[in-house]
Amino acid sequence: MKIGVIGLQGAVSEHIEAVKRAFSKSGQRGEAIWIARPEHLEGVDGIIIPGGESTTIGKLMQITEIFDVVKRLALSGVPILGTCAGMIVLAKRGDEQVAKTRQPLLGLLDISVVRNAFGRQRESFEADLHIPVLGEEPFRGVFIRAPAVKEIWGDVEVLAEFMGKIVGVKQGNIIAVAFHPELTPDTRLHEYFLKMCRKG
Ligand code: GLN
Repeated sequence: MKIGVIGLQGAVSEHIEAVKRAFSKSGQRGEAIWIARPEHLEGVDGIIIPGGESTTIGKLMQITEIFDVVKRLALSGVPILGTCAGMIVLAKRGDEQVAKTRQPLLGLLDISVVRNAFGRQRESFEADLHIPVLGEEPFRGVFIRAPAVKEIWGDVEVLAEFMGKIVGVKQGNIIAVAFHPELTPDTRLHEYFLKMCRKG
C-alpha cells in the first residue's frame, strides 16, 4: 500500500512518520511518500493533506497542479485525510478570512469551516477527545490555531466534538480533523485511515 502526504508546507515529515508507525503497529506493509509534484500521486492508495497554513497549502497545490489531481482522485474514491489546515482545504465553504484571502478550497467535504476557531488565548492546547470510531479510550487532540466545522450537510458524519464544536468529520472516502494526530504517539486515527485505504 502507498500513502502520499502532500509535501508543500506544514507537518509533512510528522505525517510520514505517523503513517510508518501505523503500518508497523497494524502489521501491514506499505510506504509513505512525499508528494511534491502531481506525478508522485500515481498509484497512491490514500492521500494526506497535513496541517500548516491552509492558504499557502492551497495555493501551492494549485501552482504545482497537485490540486486538480487530488480532486480527481478523491472523486474517483481514493481516501483522503485532512488534518487542521488540511481540513480547511477539503471544505466546501470557508469563513470571512477564507473569502478575504481568496484561498482555494477543494470543496470535497460538505462542511463550512471557521479558521482559528478556538480564539487567541487558546491558540494552542491539548485535550482528551472522545472519538467513538477509535474506541472508548480518549484520543489526545493537539490543537494548534485549529479550525472548527461550523455547519455540515449532505451525508457528513460527525466523528468528534469538543467544547460544542465539531472537530472531526467523515463523508464517504474523506475524513478530516481539526487537530494534529501525527503529533501524538497514538496511531489509532492513522490506522483507521489505512483501513479505509485498504478497502478502497
Ligand atoms: N490556522 C491555520 C490555518 O488556518 C491552521 C493551523 C494548523 O494547521 N495547525 O490555515
